[in-house]
Amino acid sequence: MKPLERLLLENKAWAQEKAAHDPEFFDKLRQPRNPDCFWIGCSDSRIHADQVTQTEPGEIFVHRNIANQVATMDMNFLAALEYAVDFLEVKHIIVCGHYGCGSIKAAMGKARPDQLFINKWLKYIKDIYRLHRENIDAESSDEARHNKLVELNIIEQVHNLAQTSVIQRAWRAGSRPDLRGWVYGLHDGIIKEIASLKAGSPLDPIYEQDLEFSTVKKQL
Ligand SMILES: [Zn+2]
Repeated sequence: MKPLERLLLENKAWAQEKAAHDPEFFDKLRQPRNPDCFWIGCSDSRIHADQVTQTEPGEIFVHRNIANQVATMDMNFLAALEYAVDFLEVKHIIVCGHYGCGSIKAAMGKARPDQLFINKWLKYIKDIYRLHRENIDAESSDEARHNKLVELNIIEQVHNLAQTSVIQRAWRAGSRPDLRGWVYGLHDGIIKEIASLKAGSPLDPIYEQDLEFSTVKKQL
């Protein structure tokens, strides 16, 4: 059987199984849901937010990209973030990376000339490696060095998230969302928390908005 035919066949089997187990499953799914969590994960095919957390459809709003980046030039990401924060009013945002991430390994080596867009995307990861090079290279094995950069990338993305205007606006308006950095172990399936920023956490002043300036501008 061709791979795509198998997917469609498995889809029918899944739909029948769900309906058999809970006849109201699809009726409930049609109702609007307000997920509490926004998950920013890696596109890696081995990690699915709902599978590894045993959550049901409707519980987690998801954005995935290569190496779970908070890319503030990416309209797709920014639109998803704005929707999650301003419309779904999520209470938590999770940046979840994973040990053994192939993109992180790729970013630690030379760029391949035939991967024009991948190279551009991985550039931000290379920057994190460069900034923490001494710390990362002090690890005793290639695997440990990769995993160190996996963790530092997650921590960096949590801070990037805090610096976005969407999060800063939400934090000024109320007490959500909290930001979390999680790392998933492909070897054991376990998620560990390695970073967290409560709503309203102070930023380095260089990332803060000069509200006084914006008030003055409005008056002009
Ligand atoms: Zn990955």
